[in-house]
Amino acid sequence: MTAHGSAPEPPIADTSTAQQREADAGTPVVDTANAWLDDGVNRCARCGSTEIQLRVSTGHLVCLFCRHEWTEAHIEPLVAGEGSLRDLTGTVIASGATDLVADDGMLTMKCSGCGAEVVVNTAEATSSRCHWCRHLLTVNEQVPNGAVPDAVLPFSVTRDQAVEHIKLFAQKRRTFAHRRFVKEFTPGNVVGVYLPYMVVDSNASGDVHGVGEVETRQYTRGTGDNKRTVYDADVHRVERHVDLTVDDLTLESSTERAHMNAFVNTNNVINTILPFDTKNAVQWNASYLVGYTSERRDADVAALVPELEDQLLSIVRSQVQSSVKTYDRGVRWEGERLEVHGTRWVSMYLPVWLYSYYHDEGGTPMVHYIAVNGRTGETMGSVPVSQWRLVTAALVTGTVLESIVIAMLGLW
Ligand SMILES: [Zn+2]
Ligand SMILES: [Zn+2]
Repeated sequence: MTAHGSAPEPPIADTSTAQQREADAGTPVVDTANAWLDDGVNRCARCGSTEIQLRVSTGHLVCLFCRHEWTEAHIEPLVAGEGSLRDLTGTVIASGATDLVADDGMLTMKCSGCGAEVVVNTAEATSSRCHWCRHLLTVNEQVPNGAVPDAVLPFSVTRDQAVEHIKLFAQKRRTFAHRRFVKEFTPGNVVGVYLPYMVVDSNASGDVHGVGEVETRQYTRGTGDNKRTVYDADVHRVERHVDLTVDDLTLESSTERAHMNAFVNTNNVINTILPFDTKNAVQWNASYLVGYTSERRDADVAALVPELEDQLLSIVRSQVQSSVKTYDRGVRWEGERLEVHGTRWVSMYLPVWLYSYYHDEGGTPMVHYIAVNGRTGETMGSVPVSQWRLVTAALVTGTVLESIVIAMLGLW
């Protein structure tokens, strides 16, 4: 990322207009379907068994029958190709990130073990066992209902490690925690869940303009109680242009989860355990999900564009900040414009361990969560607090306001 210009521009009058970019034309699609799985059965290449799942300690898929281990290809080279992000133009969408089609999620698969037809409800699961021959049938074709993404970032934090992280997190907050929470705390109830995200590469430019002031003189006026300090400053019109490429921005692609916020604070919690090492995500194979739950994507690319533009603009603003230090009395930005030259969208499941606790707070139901990043172990969450414990502690330490504010935020 580069920002141009740093010296104060000559003072002039200012007009501000913000303009929106034109929509891009054409949407090339990159096919990410995992071709070798297209018969609907994930077989072990060595022994042909379908009993396959993720072995978290190695990050590989393992055949439970013959212990053969392997991994799917990294998604990044497949989607990004050779070109530089600087050359990215238009809207490129990976095949698992294309627009969703409303359907009942029912998929009929022919069991290659016995020939029976087995129905998988993809809204609920991406695998189902053939009730005749016990083969595990897994959904590998990219059903356009959001259940099958382009890529998966497999868990690398084990359940036991997650439980330790959660215990430690709750332990540190024990003093103020509600007694019932402490008593009923059972971190073993942790659930591994894959949450849907869009991972976006962008090539964009931003322009901002405004008014900056440089102090030229400082002096005192008046005497006694009327004494005050006065500044003289030069006023400059300031313009900045930033060209930026952003690699792997993660955008939540479940709007349903965003709407849960009324009484659940998962969303805030999940955002605090970002980032994920999305570069290590691999091509879809439903076997990575065996033993875990997952949440379907319900947002299309178009619905996420405003959020992407917001995030790109805030990157532009922070990039610009370092180049306007000359204006020691600050810059007041009056207009900004973002031009998105190109974007590339990949849908991805990211791994999270979740511990949830249902708590009634004075008649208001509230679900508290502790979430562990399934890759880094980063842990964040909220714990129901006992008000009197807080107040008692606050009286001792004299931080009533701070404690109450923190308690209201729920994250501490
Ligand atoms: Zn095997
Ligand atoms: Zn069968």
